Amino acid sequence: MNRKQKKMLARIFISAALLIVLNFIPVTGAARFACYMAPYLIIGYDILIKAGKGIAHRQVTDENFLMAVATVGAIALALYEGSGDYTEAIAVMLFYQIGEWFQSYAVGKSRRNISELMDIRPDYANIESGGKLERVDPDEVAVGTVIVVQPGEKVPIDGVVVEGESSLNTAALTGESLPRDVKAGDEIISGCINMTGVLKIRTAKEFGESTVSRILDLVENASSRKSRSEAFISRFARIYTPAVCAAALALAVVPPLLRTLALGLSGDWETWIYRALTFLVASCPCALVISIPLSFFAGIGGASKAGVLVKGSNYLETLSRTRIVVFDKTGTLTKGVFEVSAIHHSPYGDAKLVEYAALAESASSHPISRSLQAAYGGEIDRGRVSGIHEISGQGVTATVDGHAVAAGNDKLMDSLGVKFIECHSVGTIIHMAIDGEYAGHIVISDVEKPTAREAVRELKNCGVRETVMLTGDTRSVAGRVARDLGIDRVYSELLPADKVEKVEELIKSKDAGAKLAFVGDGINDAPVLSRADIGIAMGAMGSDAAIEAADVVLMDDDPMKIPKAIKISRKCLRIVYENIVFAIGVKLACLVLVALGLASMWLAIFADVGVMIIAVLNAIRALFVSKL
Ligand code: ADP
Ligand code: MG
Repeated sequence: MNRKQKKMLARIFISAALLIVLNFIPVTGAARFACYMAPYLIIGYDILIKAGKGIAHRQVTDENFLMAVATVGAIALALYEGSGDYTEAIAVMLFYQIGEWFQSYAVGKSRRNISELMDIRPDYANIESGGKLERVDPDEVAVGTVIVVQPGEKVPIDGVVVEGESSLNTAALTGESLPRDVKAGDEIISGCINMTGVLKIRTAKEFGESTVSRILDLVENASSRKSRSEAFISRFARIYTPAVCAAALALAVVPPLLRTLALGLSGDWETWIYRALTFLVASCPCALVISIPLSFFAGIGGASKAGVLVKGSNYLETLSRTRIVVFDKTGTLTKGVFEVSAIHHSPYGDAKLVEYAALAESASSHPISRSLQAAYGGEIDRGRVSGIHEISGQGVTATVDGHAVAAGNDKLMDSLGVKFIECHSVGTIIHMAIDGEYAGHIVISDVEKPTAREAVRELKNCGVRETVMLTGDTRSVAGRVARDLGIDRVYSELLPADKVEKVEELIKSKDAGAKLAFVGDGINDAPVLSRADIGIAMGAMGSDAAIEAADVVLMDDDPMKIPKAIKISRKCLRIVYENIVFAIGVKLACLVLVALGLASMWLAIFADVGVMIIAVLNAIRALFVSKL
């Protein structure tokens, strides 16, 4: 509870106590009025001030205005009638404030919950100096500093392990409970908890650029991107409040006028004005206004707990309507860790060819490059390589030991005018050219992720009608992967630009309400990620481009998180709609009862606070969607 909430709680208690005490004190007339004004002003002064400001700015469309008019009106009526019954007006204000308090408490709690749920914010970094460990603010650690992480501590900054071995708990980041083992040389991301050994880590980024900070930023800013349902609510409120004010005015004026003019009866003005004021109290749309953003907020929090970062409530909404899922192949459906399976037609010998390939690829972060470097195994002497060019979707060219080396696919060879020998093995073929002459090819193959097949099947169970795979790889490889995984359609041998075009085609050909999601690893498919209705980035920890371009980031490479993300979004949206229907339904019923004179102001405010509490509790359910 913050200070504002505590103060409000105190006002609620004091005002309620005064109200109860006053009920036992027989004062009358002006003294009575003065006595009752004390609890009224204690509980309602801020509402009256806000309403006054609203009127001054000619903005009379909010709840403050409704509450002020209704309660001041009720008090005026009691004065006019000489009944001295001010309790109702005060109680209405009191309940309204209890509702507001509950609301702000719930919102604050769910906001904090999300950060707490993730529990990844590191408080310090250890630096060794003069044989002693010193705790410093992670913000002050420069790139390249060696930090020490002891068992039980959080890794504060992204980096590379230089000494030590340990198991890491990544559950807070990925929702994955299996520990990950690391040793010297391994990359390590911030936010994991070091479990067993002492690790020395050379930082690779500043704290602000590290995974932890970026994730927290994303989550904390997520609620600023509004969904259509939220936009609907604000539009709704703009029309709704003036409409109910007009209706209340009509209720106060029209029936008494009709009675006197048409029927010749007494106007009975008090009854109708009282009904109109009750109508205003009953019309307050707080339940709706608060529960919708809260539901989305809770949904985003629940998703991040499951290792799915959603950058805004609008994306949660789009995700729930996903009908087509388009996948990139390498690194998304497959592990992106290629093994060399054959080497053909090399005049230089196999080892030499792989060495040249690894050197030429030394600057690329493409999975193929990393795999070739791993296959070479040796230390890569960057001094031997110069003039590296990477051609997206084709390969690389570079000068190695003074020789012009090219490594890539058919397209690259064609563009260099090098005649190549077709390969009949199934696999990704890396053709090599050295000094403009064909130098054979390396056949590499990738393995599918173990959960890819199940993920594709699961998608069909959550409303996805079609799955499509786009790849720059050869037709034979693409066909085999698609068959294995049960993908409906495949397009192969695409350049990154072709992928964008294909996705545009698919978007054009689908029905308007259906949404298309693209899932990629962010390596040369960032444009597609941003073009799709919703871009989902896999293995995003490594790729900055993906985090930027994607709308949804899966914190581990597990394709099963895609159906999970969709399920979470659907559940969250269901909660949102439940709340909309429930809140509007009860509200309408109340308004009708009030207009017919069947409900008092008491009942109206009870109904309102009750609906709000139920709606808020329902919204909070969205926090627990990760258990789907
Ligand atoms: P995918 O669509 O499967 O993610 P890419 O678009 O990244 O594939 O690459 C398509 C093809 O381009 C690869 O299958 C490979 O033949 C070639 N290629 C891309 N980058 C490289 C590279 N760094 N080295 C060699 N070949 C590459
Ligand atoms: Mg790719």
